Amino acid sequence: MSDKKLPPPPTFPPSFTAADKFCLFHKGDLSEAIYTCPKCKTIYCLECAKNAQADGKSCIKCKQIVLL
Ligand SMILES: [Zn+2]
Ligand SMILES: [Zn+2]
Repeated sequence: MSDKKLPPPPTFPPSFTAADKFCLFHKGDLSEAIYTCPKCKTIYCLECAKNAQADGKSCIKCKQIVLL
């Protein structure tokens, strides 16, 4: 009983893109109108992007300034 075989790793369902439907500004589901960061392609709500631009905030992931 020396050959220990590890079970195969679990396969993930192809639903990982659901994480992309998440707005990092308000930490919730994206609205219909979206803004895509030109640098890192992270998607935010258009409204959140407008608020971020008004507040002088930048992309949470890459710190690229919001350009609308
Ligand atoms: Zn970005
Ligand atoms: Zn949002």
